[in-house]
Amino acid sequence: MSQLPLPRIVIALVALAVLLGGGVAYGVAQVSAQQAAAERAAVEQAAGERAAEERLAVAQAAVGQILAQASEAQAGLSAQVATAEEVLATSDGKVADDAVRVALADQVATAKAAAAAGPPEVADDATLAEVEAAETAATGWATTLREAAEALAGRTEEVRAAQGAWETAQAEAAAAAADLPAAKAALEHVTYQLGISVRDSGYTIEWTRGDGAPASALDLLTGHRAEGQAALAAAVDVADLGSVRAAAERREAARVAIEAAAWDARATVADGTNGKLPIGDLCPMGVGPEGQDQYLRCDAAAAWERLGAEFEAQFGKPLRVEYGYRPYDWQLQVLDEFGGGLAARPGTSNHGLAVAADVPVDDGFQFGRPEFAWLAANGPRHGWVHPDWARQGGGREESWHFEYVG
Ligand SMILES: [Zn+2]
Repeated sequence: MSQLPLPRIVIALVALAVLLGGGVAYGVAQVSAQQAAAERAAVEQAAGERAAEERLAVAQAAVGQILAQASEAQAGLSAQVATAEEVLATSDGKVADDAVRVALADQVATAKAAAAAGPPEVADDATLAEVEAAETAATGWATTLREAAEALAGRTEEVRAAQGAWETAQAEAAAAAADLPAAKAALEHVTYQLGISVRDSGYTIEWTRGDGAPASALDLLTGHRAEGQAALAAAVDVADLGSVRAAAERREAARVAIEAAAWDARATVADGTNGKLPIGDLCPMGVGPEGQDQYLRCDAAAAWERLGAEFEAQFGKPLRVEYGYRPYDWQLQVLDEFGGGLAARPGTSNHGLAVAADVPVDDGFQFGRPEFAWLAANGPRHGWVHPDWARQGGGREESWHFEYVG
């Protein structure tokens, strides 16, 4: 036997052993790689599941938050609906235009429907997609509630404002109704006075023109007189306070303008004779019942003041001059109105010299009354007398007429 085969066997065995060993090692390595991949996959899957769970949890939390807020809004909306219904009830018949209440009623219905709609359902085992869909629905629900609340608040405020305006208008109307009688009385008074001014200024124009008054003074008075006539002719709605007041203001303004222009016109022809006295030389004694300024010669006025102080101490009321100085045009008018039998001829009355005063009959200056008796008895101590012709049985019987004799 040769020794060679043995080593070959050994070599072969060794080679086989090497081959086998390598195959085992390879196989072992192969198995390990598969395991690692599987483990990685498991880890990744676990991570993916955790991430999905987290997303689901976040989405669920978001839905919960939205629903909580929406539920709060729902409760608030219900309270607003109650308020709006109360406003609707209290404003019934108390707005100028009911359209604003109809709009609120419509909005109440809308709000009630929104408040009645429930929140979206989310099952405990809902998938992420279902939870996300619920989130969208919850957001929509919350938006609907918020918009309904805002619209309802706006409409409610509109009705409140309309009712406030209506109540203000009612109060103003009531105040106007309460003020109307007094305003009408004032209008009646100024209308009467303006009528006198328009009437008398006709005499003023005629007389001063005849006496040579300048055209400028006549034009001015004529213009104011025309405005006075227009003011008297202008229509007045006597049921409307504004109309009554406006008419009274216009008539009063016209009256004042006529009176001022009349005195200015008289001044242009003043020559110091009866009825033609310069007004600057006289002293004012107030305003007569027709709204015309009254004057007396200043020494007569001073004496009247002293007499009046005694009278007031005795009777507790002022000694008023109803008519004092009577300019020529007024004398012409009085003559026309009462005739020569009752009125002095123009240019002859002591009124034209500003030394006669007529006292108000209604203040007690009638024959037999204490006021008249006192003035007739005490006037002479201050130069004021009741003339014989005016006494009871004296001819003309003017219990109101007193003259200053100094
Ligand atoms: Zn008189």
